[in-house]
Amino acid sequence: MACHAFVIHIAVQTPLHSNVGGLLSYTHGHALPPGTLVRVPLGQRELLGVVWESVPAAHADLPAGVALRPLAQVLDALAPLAAPWRQLVAFTARYYQRSLGEIAATALPPALRKLSNAQLLRRLQVKKKAAQTVPEQEKLVALTAEQQSVISQIEQNCGPFLLYGSTGSGKTEVYLHTVAAALVADPQAQALVLVPEINLTPQLLARFERRFAPTLGPQAVASLHSGLTEAQRLQHWLAAHTGQARIVLGTRMAVLASLPQLKIIVVDEEHDPSFKQEEGARYSARDLALWRGRDAGAKVILGSATPSLESWYACQQGRYQRLDMPSRIAAAALPGVHLVNMRQQPKSTVFAPALLQAITERIQRGEQSLVLLNRRGFAPVLWCGDCGWKSDCPHCSAHQVFHKGERRLRCHHCSASQAVPRHCPHCGNPDILALGHGTEQLQEALEQVLRNVQRPDGKPARIGRMDADTTQGAGQLQAQLAHIHDGSVDVLVGTQMIAKGHDFRRMTLVAAIAPDAALMSTGFRAPERLFALLMQAAGRAGRDAAFVGQQGSQPQMWIQTQQPEHPLYQALLHHDYPGFAQQQLHERQQAGMPPFVFQALVRADAKTQDAAQNFLHAAAQHAQSLPALVGVFLYPPIPMAVQRVANIERAQMLIEAASRSALQKFLHAWQPLLHPLKKQHKTVVRWLVDVDPQNL
Ligand code: ADP
Ligand code: ZN
Ligand code: ZN
Repeated sequence: MACHAFVIHIAVQTPLHSNVGGLLSYTHGHALPPGTLVRVPLGQRELLGVVWESVPAAHADLPAGVALRPLAQVLDALAPLAAPWRQLVAFTARYYQRSLGEIAATALPPALRKLSNAQLLRRLQVKKKAAQTVPEQEKLVALTAEQQSVISQIEQNCGPFLLYGSTGSGKTEVYLHTVAAALVADPQAQALVLVPEINLTPQLLARFERRFAPTLGPQAVASLHSGLTEAQRLQHWLAAHTGQARIVLGTRMAVLASLPQLKIIVVDEEHDPSFKQEEGARYSARDLALWRGRDAGAKVILGSATPSLESWYACQQGRYQRLDMPSRIAAAALPGVHLVNMRQQPKSTVFAPALLQAITERIQRGEQSLVLLNRRGFAPVLWCGDCGWKSDCPHCSAHQVFHKGERRLRCHHCSASQAVPRHCPHCGNPDILALGHGTEQLQEALEQVLRNVQRPDGKPARIGRMDADTTQGAGQLQAQLAHIHDGSVDVLVGTQMIAKGHDFRRMTLVAAIAPDAALMSTGFRAPERLFALLMQAAGRAGRDAAFVGQQGSQPQMWIQTQQPEHPLYQALLHHDYPGFAQQQLHERQQAGMPPFVFQALVRADAKTQDAAQNFLHAAAQHAQSLPALVGVFLYPPIPMAVQRVANIERAQMLIEAASRSALQKFLHAWQPLLHPLKKQHKTVVRWLVDVDPQNL
């Protein structure tokens, strides 16, 4: 035993459920500092792991007869991951009911799994030599009084802060200033800036680079997101870990980056649902940012024009400090909201004539309009009027969507697709109808009705489209954004991705074509999401004084609705987020919903709905014996809203408690009972726990 005198407990991602919450043990000649990266043998494979603890072999409490294997390699070219990072990983694993190894693996760049110590050493040396050209210095703007006041509040207080600022109020400038202040105060300090989707707003990254590269060097700003190659992601992660990167700008994954000198965290558009990871370890990057900030003593700033109701409520309770920036920088006012009562329009109306007129005027003045419809494709379903056939997906409880351009029916849940049938597959009727509208159809319709409208340069109006279908290919999204920014597109049709954070300068009109659908949704967060989407969309109009007022049109937001009297639209009419939030929070309190209660969801997938629900019933049965069940309510299992996807039946069970800690205590006691249960329910394909679920 002399040469393997220590037992090392390691966080490794394994498919073994027995490892949940736990660690794997190996031997090594000497103790290793916690946080050291290592490679360990598991079966025939070698996996990346993180040292959690070293124990002298003589003191290790191991079952008799267990022969431990030695570590394969120690990656000591890298400094060990610091204690605050390990605490973050441990908290995330505990809170979201995952294994330490899984969270550690999620947090580390995949390329690390393949590198030897020598290769890693070379990476680090190459990095140091790399030199690049110096981006041009950005002109500094004079801060507004609102910006100044907010910045000094942040300097003088601890937070966490909710920066509640209108769209176009200059929140980004506040982030830049507070980050700069933190980096100046401490020459090692690091900042983390989280954004919902970096690809959609490359301007933001460019702005941080322009602001900081001239003083801190070209490598001071690193980005972390899923659009990077593995090599880039490794390079940026290393820059963060070694402290070379002073600012990390990234999507949700960046919240788990190694940032040993973290002093400030910004979560921009904090209300955005994409901060919640919806696969694997289902963590909320927004919530983890708050935990990480408190743990590391870093200031946290959440920013939004339409804060999540959780954040708004936290301000009311005094848990966050609210900072307001009500005024827009560029335009005199937010867009005027026009509610078009579609009950008074002929039944088949897609665009109200007054809206078309407003769009036409803008094209003629060289301004842009944005048309929002949250449904891609040409039509959501094909239908045979003779026999009632619909284009159902054979694998899912959903319709296949008609994509006219590619002549295909496509399922948006399982991606199965097929050629569009020439006649009804059921009765042979050649007249199959397309029901409802998608963005592809709106683009075609606008090209038709606006075909004679001319731009100031005499050219015909150009209608662009931006949705998941038109932005799949490499560079397609950037090319489309460039067309909008340089003014070659006059009207842009698209899904919610056109509403997010863009700084479109010539945009003076935004129209939501059929937003009512979201009001019919059963999900209790649907109104909150719709309101945020419409406010954010409205925020794209009138961002530059050069295109509004004297020189151009008044910025406008058009809403086509069957229910103009609905409180949500009435609040929107007055840009009244506080009123809307108050009304929603009141409803949530009456109905006993978050943020007044805490929830988790257990989901089971199986070949049949019965099998999935049986597993959940059995799980509920096991819960009855647990003392931790006190104060926790288990709802009966039900099918998920989209019950079948890719031939798998899905069921869910909601768990609710009045306090976070009661819910956590229960889940910890319960979860170990569910792993063996799965073995008894052989037809269950998988099950998972989703803590603080967002899609209910
Ligand atoms: P938000 O993030 O709140 O939507 P931005 O930070 O993008 O707003 O600011 C909107 C626009 O106003 C940007 O083009 C920005 O460059 C500009 N801006 C911000 N602050 C100032 C300022 N103090 N003076 C002049 N322009 C500013
Ligand atoms: Zn038919
Ligand atoms: Zn399908």
